[in-house]
Amino acid sequence: MFCPFCSAQETKVIDSRLVAEGHQVRRRRECVICHERFTTFEGAELVMPRVIKRDGSREPFNEDKLRAGMQRALEKRPVSTENVEKSILTIKSKLRATGEREIQSQFLGNLIMDELRHLDKVAYIRFASVYRSFEDIREFGEEIARLGD
Ligand SMILES: [Zn+2]
Repeated sequence: MFCPFCSAQETKVIDSRLVAEGHQVRRRRECVICHERFTTFEGAELVMPRVIKRDGSREPFNEDKLRAGMQRALEKRPVSTENVEKSILTIKSKLRATGEREIQSQFLGNLIMDELRHLDKVAYIRFASVYRSFEDIREFGEEIARLGD
């Protein structure tokens, strides 16, 4: 890629390492003309299944939307961005592992809840109470009781 500072066409890689548990390559580059340094991330772009919503309509899997939903549940909770990103990678690899071209939105919702349960119990409850339409307060109480185990 061109240097983002001076648009020179030639840059050299001065450091390269695996990040995100080997799912991405982080490269430190230096422009041979202006000598500014910058970082690039490289990852595989793989086809994700489409999501079938409750009303039967389909939409493309949207990582930004997934991240936004998780961040909303994790607001002001002591969970690092790195751990959230790891969870997003886990959810994505589980979605790909299904080998399906389309998955139900509930399936995705359950994957998110699994991850949140491990990350932070408060965030899990927040997400579950919004996502899952709890039939009544008793069901919600049972869910919280299960967390105690
Ligand atoms: Zn440059």
